[in-house]
Amino acid sequence: MGYARFSYADVYVFLSCYGQLECCGCWLRTEENPSIATSFYETEEMLEHLKLHIAAGHNVPEETIEDLKADALVNDKWIDNVYHGMCTSCEGYGVCLVRGPPPPKHADDCWGCKGSGLCKDCEGMGGNKEWQAYSITIKESQ
Ligand SMILES: [Zn+2]
Ligand SMILES: [Zn+2]
Ligand SMILES: [Zn+2]
Repeated sequence: MGYARFSYADVYVFLSCYGQLECCGCWLRTEENPSIATSFYETEEMLEHLKLHIAAGHNVPEETIEDLKADALVNDKWIDNVYHGMCTSCEGYGVCLVRGPPPPKHADDCWGCKGSGLCKDCEGMGGNKEWQAYSITIKESQ
């Protein structure tokens, strides 16, 4: 999901499929400042980072800030889940989403699951071993 692009802004901000908010090609990462963080696990950290851009006179659209804030709860939850090993292909459900959102129709010719209806990347587990343990603790706390 993207929040800003270089075509209309001085930052390129998006939520990566690897579970981090990215400031891609960040202009603040320079030879003088090579170690500045450009990937974040929390929306709040990204908003703080964008303040540095604004302070440097870069064009950060207001919609970018507003959209990030509006999605903060959902994004931070998702990032946390991915951090704990959730499969992003099936969003932790273990079902094949190749044929669109649920309820999926899965024929033998589905290139994802070959008809089994299980996610091809986690084979229906919803994530790695760490995720399985973590998802149990989520269910118990609900
Ligand atoms: Zn940046
Ligand atoms: Zn999966
Ligand atoms: Zn399928």
